[in-house]
Amino acid sequence: MKIKLDRTLCDGFGICAKHAPEHFPLDDWGYASLAGDPAIAPTDEPAVTRALLDCPVHAITTLPEPSHPSAKP
Ligand code: SF4
Repeated sequence: MKIKLDRTLCDGFGICAKHAPEHFPLDDWGYASLAGDPAIAPTDEPAVTRALLDCPVHAITTLPEPSHPSAKP
């Protein structure tokens, strides 16, 4: 999965950082940013998905994955 974080929506609740601190570091005011690659490793997907679902302002969203060439008709 690939995600993005809209910092203009973030209200600094810090829930994402609780679930996946390595992906969502908080600044001095408690606002989150996205650390590293927006492509999330499969092992981190459960924690990142929890962060995404629990964000009260839906600042974290998934990006569409490019479809696999072999998936085309
Ligand atoms: S849970 Fe949402 S509002 Fe809270 S810090 Fe993370 S991105 Fe921002």
